[in-house]
Amino acid sequence: MIIKVLGSAAGGGFPQANCNCRNCADVRQGRPGVQARTQSSLAVSQDGRDWVLLNASPDIRQQMSQTPELAPRPEDGLRSSPIKAVAVTNGDVDHVAGLLSLREGVPFALYASPTVLDALAANSIFNVLDPKIVPRVAMTTGVQIELAGGLLLEAFAVPGKVALYLEKAAPDLGTRDDDTIGLTISDPTSGARVHYIPGCAEVDAMLAERLRGAQLVLFDGTLYTDQEMIAQGLSSKTGKRMGHISMAGADGSIAAFDRLDVKRRIYVHINNSNPVLRDDSLERAHVERAGWEIAFDGMEIRL
Ligand SMILES: [Zn+2]
Ligand SMILES: [Zn+2]
Repeated sequence: MIIKVLGSAAGGGFPQANCNCRNCADVRQGRPGVQARTQSSLAVSQDGRDWVLLNASPDIRQQMSQTPELAPRPEDGLRSSPIKAVAVTNGDVDHVAGLLSLREGVPFALYASPTVLDALAANSIFNVLDPKIVPRVAMTTGVQIELAGGLLLEAFAVPGKVALYLEKAAPDLGTRDDDTIGLTISDPTSGARVHYIPGCAEVDAMLAERLRGAQLVLFDGTLYTDQEMIAQGLSSKTGKRMGHISMAGADGSIAAFDRLDVKRRIYVHINNSNPVLRDDSLERAHVERAGWEIAFDGMEIRL
């Protein structure tokens, strides 16, 4: 199985267009030790021919131009794409807006939870994806789906929150329905398996059980500390309020994974405020000492 990180940043990307925080200012000026990143998405393939995208970010066109494997093959005629499927983990803009850039009439299957499919159906702009060409398939948590190319896809519920634009007056935090899901992709031939969880409010007992002993987990690395965006004057929201567990601290993901015996742990979906984006930061050293890697755009993993 081949896994390519198309985009390793959280919503807004790095640098974020309207942000002048220290990280964004430094990467914009080309300072050494910080690297630009596009918004969160992965591409996964069994054989390098047929690909599934996990989340479709607003940066999808740039990501595809930087990934030769996702270009049409000469032998496939004038109009084609190696992208056979797209699976999304929730309805956040940074995870679904890229679907609009895939509207040019080449077939693929779209997999999402019933909640997200309802949100897409309620928004007529997504009608540019003709259901006859792009079938919308509901993922039921715990049920495996065979993808074109032979990989198996399974959705599982994770503690999270609904997309910002779908929030009602009182946000329902820490719920376990299909508002936010994780995805497990496995290769039945080789036994390789990866878990992709770009948004997660908490590692509860059920999630810990699923991840225990895993070969590879790509996990929510949005914030280093819960108060980070408030402390930097960027936002009034904590990480918890945004449905994202932090890396550090007693209730952070580093501590939560400590006893899970996951062989390879990689942070994805990293917000531009996160100090781990600086190669020489103490925070980067801390997460690496704890056994974590920081994803970068173009990172490739073979299982
Ligand atoms: Zn996101
Ligand atoms: Zn910033």
